[in-house]
Amino acid sequence: MRLRDKVALITGAARGIGLVTAQRFAEEGARLMLGDIDSDAGQAAALRVSDSALKAGSPAPTPTVLFERLDVTDRASVEAFVATAQGHFGKIDILINNAGITADAQLLKMTEDQWQRVLDVNLKGVFLCTQAVAPVMIAQGKGKIVNASSVVALYGNFGQSNYVATKAGLIGMTKVWARELGRKGICVNAVAPGFIETEMVGTIPEKIINRLLEHTPLGRMGKPQEVAHAYVFLASDESDFINGTVLSVDGGLVI
Ligand code: NAP
Repeated sequence: MRLRDKVALITGAARGIGLVTAQRFAEEGARLMLGDIDSDAGQAAALRVSDSALKAGSPAPTPTVLFERLDVTDRASVEAFVATAQGHFGKIDILINNAGITADAQLLKMTEDQWQRVLDVNLKGVFLCTQAVAPVMIAQGKGKIVNASSVVALYGNFGQSNYVATKAGLIGMTKVWARELGRKGICVNAVAPGFIETEMVGTIPEKIINRLLEHTPLGRMGKPQEVAHAYVFLASDESDFINGTVLSVDGGLVI
């Protein structure tokens, strides 16, 4: 129960790493506010999260899991989401900025629409969510914010000018906020997952995946659970003196 009674907000929680992270957090005793642009999948995810915590034999009372439709690119939607969480739980201990999209194309073929859509979700979305949650955490004098960067921020990736720009930008923002918010008792860190078995990776051509696996010392893709474990650590009190760091969860790909 490493997150007992903590209140965590997770964006993009309807599927993939966000959903598995929500399940792990619930098993660790957290109360959860889940957000995603897809309402139906998000509602279903909230039920699955409650179920998996109960099946795991969580000694906590039935974990409270709320879902609200959230578009991280829309300030009004973000503010409403944060207000619901604060109104219901009375505090916010953890923000996991997980929502992210890809829209891949090589430089010469990338449209401005592809460029802008990815920047809006992956970069502006994290800015808006953090800006909305930070005042709550500042008032509490404590909080944990974890941003979903990527191995490609450190390594580059063919056909992902937009996505790599956002994931590298997130590392910069993480360090700025670690400085600005650290003095208020808030730790801001990032995870940089390698290639993880989710729908997002299903869009990458097999040839490129095979090449990346050849360069991964552990010789395999990661599992969403393995990223979720890193989130649990960076969200828990165990990481109270870790601030402004980027934790690679990539099987050694960037060595
Ligand atoms: P995923 O399966 O595609 O899940 C992302 C979720 O975010 C989806 O449910 C998506 O909804 C939602 N979302 C999209 N736009 C949104 C918006 N405007 N507001 C709120 N939610 C929105 O992705 P994943 O593979 O789990 O990745 C999660 C995070 O980890 C992302 O930030 C990703 O960049 C990062 N990451 C993933 C990998 C990997 O290998 N999978 C590696 C490194 C980093 P829709 O599906 O309806 O769009």
